[in-house]
Amino acid sequence: MLLLIPGPVTTRPAVQMAMAHDFAPWDNAFRDFCAQLRARLLAIAGVSAETHVTLPLQGCGHFITEAAIRTFVPLGHKILIPQTGPYADRMTRLAREAGCVVVPLSVLPDRPTNPAAVAAALAADHQIGHVGLVQSETGSGVVHDPGAIGAVIRAAGRRLIVDAVSAFGALPLDLAYQNEIDAVVFTSNKCLEAMPGMGFAIARIDRLEASAGQAGSWSFDLADIYAHTLKSGPGSFRFTPPAQVLAALDAALDLFDAEGGQPARLARYQTNARTLYDGLLALGLTPCLPPDAQGPIVMNIHAPPDPAWSLQKFVDVLKARGVLISNFYNTPYPSFRVGCIGAITQADMRFAVYAMGQALDRLGIVQRKAA
Ligand SMILES: *Cc1c(COP(=O)(O)O)cnc(C)c1O
Repeated sequence: MLLLIPGPVTTRPAVQMAMAHDFAPWDNAFRDFCAQLRARLLAIAGVSAETHVTLPLQGCGHFITEAAIRTFVPLGHKILIPQTGPYADRMTRLAREAGCVVVPLSVLPDRPTNPAAVAAALAADHQIGHVGLVQSETGSGVVHDPGAIGAVIRAAGRRLIVDAVSAFGALPLDLAYQNEIDAVVFTSNKCLEAMPGMGFAIARIDRLEASAGQAGSWSFDLADIYAHTLKSGPGSFRFTPPAQVLAALDAALDLFDAEGGQPARLARYQTNARTLYDGLLALGLTPCLPPDAQGPIVMNIHAPPDPAWSLQKFVDVLKARGVLISNFYNTPYPSFRVGCIGAITQADMRFAVYAMGQALDRLGIVQRKAA
């Protein structure tokens, strides 16, 4: 089955097989393995162990995002969040429930966030200490540029937290240069092409030291995970880790390296996305974004206006042909969405487009172009 959803993604057999073992998390061999895994992720982020540290947190992307906000944004302080779509909404809720004051910044739903708008919002309110940015808005498919937005945040002397959950490993981020970034957060199961179950932050050590004790949560305190690392070593976890998920991630990083790292992964996803975009147009369908605003991670497509359209039926017919897409949509209007990430190639995407054409015919969808 091809999983064409923006996480969890299609994985390779070597990644699946790495899970077929029993592990003792406190065993010395497993500790060495975990320490090395953290170092590998730091290397992918392109930063040194002198300035940054990889902090693992069991669970999903929401958990690690919440942990970064709780750790770095003091209770009652303000965080500016560009309202890029559903994942910015989620970050907004996590921040509010963590006791932060969210300053929402309206942005166009189908365009990258304008750095000048962020600069103006920061200039207008000196109490805003942080910006929370979703690098790849998985709701819309638009990529927001942390380099350009980070530059205005740096110039204003404020801090940045990047939700790179659907970006890390594929989209570039210059963490070594962007010293305004307190932390970038991501998970094991999206562009790194492993299993769900682990979140990671790559965070600045100086900022972790300055942020001790303010998370208001033991489970979600990155400064506490850092303190534990110093005390018990980088191979040690505070609480039981999903060892199999970590083993699968290590196997997935072998494949990531063999492929040629982030540039190669991005190139493959871009090819997948272009193949899908062109294929959809050839089927008479209408992608929601113009090509220049469409990111390489996930694509939304307008629901055909034909009265015979049913998303669930379309999903069912596709599934019978070996292609699984989401049976819900994230746009304000009816659409369907297709993920371009995971262990899939251009040939897989061509097959998926072919299967979509068959499914449309099978459902008798004649009117396809959005009004
Ligand atoms: C998937 C995703 C998350 C977190 O999802 P979980 O279901 O909690 O793992 C957060 N942000 C973005 C941009 C995502 O794509």
